[in-house]
Amino acid sequence: MNSVGKPLLGGIEAGGTKFVLAVGHSPTEIIERHEVPTHDPATTLAQASEWFEGQGSIHALGIASFGPVELDRSSPLWGHITNTPKPGWANCNLAGYFAERVGVPIGFDTDVNGAALAEYKHGAGKTARSLAYITVGTGIGGGLVLDGKAVHGAAHPEMGHIFPRRHADDREFEGICPHHGDCLEGLASGPAIKARWGASLSELPADHIAHEIIASYLAQLAHSLIAMTAVEIIVFGGGVMKTGGLLESVNRRASELGAAYFPGGSKHKIVLPGLGQNAGLAGALMLANAVQPDH
Ligand code: ZN
Repeated sequence: MNSVGKPLLGGIEAGGTKFVLAVGHSPTEIIERHEVPTHDPATTLAQASEWFEGQGSIHALGIASFGPVELDRSSPLWGHITNTPKPGWANCNLAGYFAERVGVPIGFDTDVNGAALAEYKHGAGKTARSLAYITVGTGIGGGLVLDGKAVHGAAHPEMGHIFPRRHADDREFEGICPHHGDCLEGLASGPAIKARWGASLSELPADHIAHEIIASYLAQLAHSLIAMTAVEIIVFGGGVMKTGGLLESVNRRASELGAAYFPGGSKHKIVLPGLGQNAGLAGALMLANAVQPDH
């Protein structure tokens, strides 16, 4: 037990380029933070667990991971990354590794469900009953929280793999998703933007058509979410969303798509993360808090 009498929690935001690690007394009280690059699993997991071993006695560890992952507690594959194309990481038993090495209860969910939980409780969704968190970066993914619970079903939501209507000035590009070609992730993720215009969205001039095209695709995701779930708050995070003016364009286009159609349409909000860069990590600490023995 630490000086302020609250148990110490550990959190991992496991991403495709880096693992962000933290210990804290609560999701919003981070004491120490550290990053290790995502290489092969043996190297990265060993570096991560060594860091936690040097942080004193944690009571539980939460992992918010890139996916796809297995979230069914009754499955022998619970806590595994499953069929990712990322070399070496398919079938990696992330939860099992840290359960054995760190020896504490493990909370486990997707990175975007973790971020959605954190934004719902501590960030942009503090006054709402429902919130979706979308990340637009190396890939596109989304998590949905309804009445305080992250939605899991047969698996977890894969919001990046929906099929938007193609923009009239973007008919030629085939898309880069290895599964679908021109799904949303195949058209509007960071690598998809680079593949057709040779630069990131923020590097392209403000009057470049790319801005309009990408906003139109992201707005269709927001519209679909609102149409299907009536979610109140949609948070857009991830590297691509740092592009100046993009959130405003998505908002404007989503409003056009909703037109006057949705009852109470003006209650929907499309915003940037209230927790900034810390949404995923705060979510990981919430997952730890949910499984810690004194909870
Ligand atoms: Zn896809």
